[in-house]
Amino acid sequence: MRRFFRASGGKFVRIAAYNICMKKLSAKHRILLACGAVAAALAFTVGMCVYALARTASGISRMTIVIDAGHGGIDGGVVGRKTGTKESDINLSVSRLLQTEFEEAGFLVVQTRPTEAGLYGAATAGYKKRDMQRRAEIIHENAPAAVISVHQNFFPVSSRRGAQVFFRETNELSHTLACSIQTALNEMPECVERSEALKGDYYMLNCNDYPSVIVECGFLSNAADEALLVTREYQKRLAEVICRGTIAFLAAGATGD
Ligand SMILES: [Zn+2]
Repeated sequence: MRRFFRASGGKFVRIAAYNICMKKLSAKHRILLACGAVAAALAFTVGMCVYALARTASGISRMTIVIDAGHGGIDGGVVGRKTGTKESDINLSVSRLLQTEFEEAGFLVVQTRPTEAGLYGAATAGYKKRDMQRRAEIIHENAPAAVISVHQNFFPVSSRRGAQVFFRETNELSHTLACSIQTALNEMPECVERSEALKGDYYMLNCNDYPSVIVECGFLSNAADEALLVTREYQKRLAEVICRGTIAFLAAGATGD
């Protein structure tokens, strides 16, 4: 953008010079120069429009989303009853797809756990606490517009299924974001069991004051959910829908709705 301003500054100089020399020039040259001046003015106007749009776009792209793939390393989380798939692997896969969705929408994305490894350093006593504290540090370092922690659920009663989004009761923005994502998930054709956003007393929600949610994408204790959750197609659908719900929350905040 700075380059554009320097270039348009040059055009201004040329337009001023045009006025001074006009009297000495032939009619043909006057027409050519007049056309040039009109073109320069037009270029300046179009440039200003492009600049305004780019500024709006970059205003959005400066927003950072922290995506937190739950578990990792020696902590695989829960395990699918039928396939034995580890929750940590599904979480990472959905998180990566979610990153693509947000980046394509112009956001900056930070992953707390970008690989299969945990964040605890050596797998010694207290690893879980170190892992969680590192996630909290990453959130605070990035001052995000939203934090989305990705998990998979498990329940002793295998009929229980569907996506559930958790929020921190004392954080209104966490609640609003959770409702927005839950609404988007409930609208999925694959959603056979709708849920309300739910209060949750979890470290990842309590460790920061940014709009943070935990998305439990489905139940690995339910055969139908598990069959969906292990496929890349469904993981991508989840990523699209979670991203859409988050953007709806951010857009509502931007317009003061
Ligand atoms: Zn989990």
